[in-house]
Amino acid sequence: MSFLSFQEFIRYAYERAPAIRERFDRAGLRPEDVSSPADLPRLPLLRKTELGERQQAEPPFGGFLAAPVSHLRRIFVSPGPIYDPQGREEDYWRWEEALSTAGFGPGDIVQVTFSYHLTPAGFMFDEALQKLGCVVVPAGVGNTELQVKVMRDLGVTGYVGVPSFLYSLLKKAEEMNLVGELKLRRAWVTAEYLAPELRELLRSKYDVEVFQGYGTADVGCVAYECPVKQGMHLAQGVIVEIVDPDTGQPVGEGEVGEVVLTLMDATYPLLRLATGDLSAFITEPCPCGRPGRRLAGVLGRTAAGVKVRGLFLYPHQVKALAQEFPEIKALRAVVTQHDFKDELTLEAELAEGVEPKEELAERLAARAKEVMRLRSRVVFVPPGTVGEELICDRRSR
Ligand SMILES: [Zn+2]
Repeated sequence: MSFLSFQEFIRYAYERAPAIRERFDRAGLRPEDVSSPADLPRLPLLRKTELGERQQAEPPFGGFLAAPVSHLRRIFVSPGPIYDPQGREEDYWRWEEALSTAGFGPGDIVQVTFSYHLTPAGFMFDEALQKLGCVVVPAGVGNTELQVKVMRDLGVTGYVGVPSFLYSLLKKAEEMNLVGELKLRRAWVTAEYLAPELRELLRSKYDVEVFQGYGTADVGCVAYECPVKQGMHLAQGVIVEIVDPDTGQPVGEGEVGEVVLTLMDATYPLLRLATGDLSAFITEPCPCGRPGRRLAGVLGRTAAGVKVRGLFLYPHQVKALAQEFPEIKALRAVVTQHDFKDELTLEAELAEGVEPKEELAERLAARAKEVMRLRSRVVFVPPGTVGEELICDRRSR
């Protein structure tokens, strides 16, 4: 079933899922207090750990299921363990929209290399592809050599899985001298960082067009790329917020924060599930003409962030800043405290032949102020000072 309005969804979830009712009651709210998505920040975030604890206390779904267990089609076991239900609807996780936008359709033979055991990923894409009229090869994880043979024998045209395994398959095909016989032209990847260089290599060397998307085991499809491939369009049926992980309140327009999801589902309604993933909204319209905001992809995990003078600083921001300056070989952010005040120092290793000039330090600090919204002091450090860690928090706690 789909809901006529957001209000109808909230009332339904409140009446049918005891754990959701309890969260409203604890926050001192009535269903009518959350009458539009803009009111969602009044509710507390639902952390994955809390979901797991609730499930353990009251198996299997901790009071979040809005239908009898007998109405489910499958129950999955994600790491945690967290139990994930699958409702009766066709394409329950709503990936059809994402895969059809990427061009999958009748005539395609698609090899799904996500696991079909315990976790839902394999079935998620299997079902959406079948709905689109594709033939599915439920290959699952591993068996690289066999998978290459299957790909050749069956004339597989599409791949669904993680990008690193696609690359392994194609390298193996090369070893087996089979690349020329493959009909693979389209790939859909998720659950792993897709390096732009790898995407380009797969296109130029193997003639495989790669699309990516973002989703979770509990929610299913959240966002996906169109052929323009600049950010991801938001999927139907799910409300996405970007929030400050500490306060649970929305961050400013275009700022980086934690992805929080509300799933308007009749079987398993989820309100403000905090993912631990970092992203930002892209507000400019997409050249493809689809309306609405886009997600900037997964930029990192909240756990890696540190709060400096009340603002979150994340490793990917330090990395991105360094990449803007060809004069800089490596960069890290060091957080200290002086007189009870946080101080941020950017330690920069210079590229070979670059002089440590004041002008460069000033430009770097100015750019850091723009992208991190934090004032910093820049110091040039000898080669080898900056290690793997991009943020060093040296404040005593
Ligand atoms: Zn687009």
